[in-house]
Amino acid sequence: MKIKIVGGGLAGCEAAFYLLKKGFHVDLYEMRPLVFSPAHRTSKLCELVCSNSLKSISLHTGQGLLKEEMRILDSLVLYAAERSKVPAGESLSVDRGIFQENIEKILFSFPKFNLINQEITDLSENSIIATGPLTSSKLSQAIINTTGKENFHFFDAISPIISGESINMKKAFFGTRYGKGSPDFINCPLSKEEYISFHKELVDAKTVILKEFEKRELFNSCLPIEEIARSGIDSMRFGPLRPVGLTNDVFGKSYAVVQLRKENIEGDSYNIVGFQTNLKYPEQNRVFQLIPALENCEFIRYGAMHRNNYLDSPKLLSSFGNLLKNPSIFFAGQIIGVEGYMESAASGIVAAINISRFMRKECLIDFPKNTIIGALMKYVSQENNNFQPMNANFGLFPSDSIKYKDKSQRKDAIVMNSLKNVREYVKLLEV
Ligand SMILES: Cc1cc2nc3c(=O)[nH]c(=O)nc-3n(C[C@H](O)[C@H](O)[C@H](O)COP(=O)(O)OP(=O)(O)OC[C@H]3O[C@@H](n4cnc5c(N)ncnc54)[C@H](O)[C@@H]3O)c2cc1C
Repeated sequence: MKIKIVGGGLAGCEAAFYLLKKGFHVDLYEMRPLVFSPAHRTSKLCELVCSNSLKSISLHTGQGLLKEEMRILDSLVLYAAERSKVPAGESLSVDRGIFQENIEKILFSFPKFNLINQEITDLSENSIIATGPLTSSKLSQAIINTTGKENFHFFDAISPIISGESINMKKAFFGTRYGKGSPDFINCPLSKEEYISFHKELVDAKTVILKEFEKRELFNSCLPIEEIARSGIDSMRFGPLRPVGLTNDVFGKSYAVVQLRKENIEGDSYNIVGFQTNLKYPEQNRVFQLIPALENCEFIRYGAMHRNNYLDSPKLLSSFGNLLKNPSIFFAGQIIGVEGYMESAASGIVAAINISRFMRKECLIDFPKNTIIGALMKYVSQENNNFQPMNANFGLFPSDSIKYKDKSQRKDAIVMNSLKNVREYVKLLEV
């Protein structure tokens, strides 16, 4: 049986490896070197477009747990990365050239692997689409024709997400503007002095240098908070930090108020409303912690603004990664709304498992929810009116009823349970 994979990036190569091991013929379509995205530079498979870091290996981080789950799933990307690693402390960083060579050597060792350098411009049956955040414009158009324009995004403008327990509630209060609706927002007031010093640090903070193609198109719809701040000392007070309708018994009338919106039902993570930003990650830590209630806040995901094609997956995809409308078409990688190299690769394994079962007319099996990969797949497929890409983090796990001594003990329990669940899942697939 033959399966078509479109896109020879992290997700596409990982999916190809799984299917080849299962005995399928794989035609992998990659448009490079005939057509290049604005960020890719090489003609080899599995190019790391930016950093050479695949992030932390510590099991007490979402990234570390993700890697261990992928190890159990016999991940190609993890295998190739560990054989091309360069010293980088607690993170897995690679020599990108050797990494790409390792990937190609393994894939080309399968006689049923066929690489076709061609830009695909249409969706077709029995395929995995893994064309990433910079999907070519012709294929983007074909996807839009199937999904509708409103369900295919071109840019990311994301505000940081912080952990609920790291908010200093002695310096914040629950409530909505003018008391309308349920008081789900957390409001973080600032005095005049605090606001002025926050404004100064924000306008002076170091930002990420945008690529030309991003500069051209990005700011049309949505300004980063630092740009709003630069446009005048009071602009933020008339924008996302406006204090009107947020007077409180304890804090009285505030000069400015930062609002936090619940990011999940459990309320253990919060989005800083209107804080889409291009600040470098350490600068987000430094500057946003000047907001009194956020003085010790822990970032689950940093804010970002960049070109990123992704589907409104909760509306379009099942938890197996295929189109609800056309179940023989699967999607994988960043295009489904996961964020990051390893997350993209992991979703390639999920799509490959399911398309292989689909082709063999076997029932599709959900990835166990109590794992980091399962939690990510749940995130991308469950209802969400404000769907934005997500990386692997412990905030994806629902808070549980068990009381732990501390965060570290909770993480140990999550890790043990996740790895056990992935092992059981792999056994189930082998039956
Ligand atoms: C500029 C930029 C920088 C990033 N930096 C990082 C980072 O430092 N760390 C991190 O963890 N994540 C980063 N990401 C996010 C993301 O993790 C990576 O983009 C990751 O490579 C996504 O994997 P993927 O397999 O989904 O897509 P990709 O790795 O991009 O693979 C998609 C492949 O599909 C091909 N393709 C596209 N359209 C077609 C078509 N029509 N026909 C045939 N082939 C096609 C492309 O040429 C490409 O090879 C970055 C993203 C961008 C855009």
